[in-house]
Amino acid sequence: MGANALRTEPWIYLKPPKIEIDYRKCSGPLQCRCCQTVCPQAVFFVDTVTVVRSQKIDPNESDAYKIKARFRDRCTACDKCVQACPEAAIKVYTPGT
Ligand code: SF4
Ligand code: SF4
Repeated sequence: MGANALRTEPWIYLKPPKIEIDYRKCSGPLQCRCCQTVCPQAVFFVDTVTVVRSQKIDPNESDAYKIKARFRDRCTACDKCVQACPEAAIKVYTPGT
């Protein structure tokens, strides 16, 4: 395979897509995780919010957890997370859009 065969989506090698999560809409990431489940690149990670880290956390507390696009550099902009999110909380922008 020649080197050019790997360059059908050159932005992958330059800059990863921008992923915006509207946290006003995503209120229960620990219970939902739809984006995390469908993402073929394992971009998403559910993290504890800094102010409650190291404390006993009630998983039903809406502000206790946040979904984060921690591994954004792996994103291929397939839009599966955008389509799967029941709250329409995710936007993915490819470089140049
Ligand atoms: S666009 Fe695709 S690869 Fe990127 S975060 Fe969403 S599901 Fe994952
Ligand atoms: S799919 Fe949407 S609502 Fe569910 S955890 Fe991801 S961003 Fe939040």
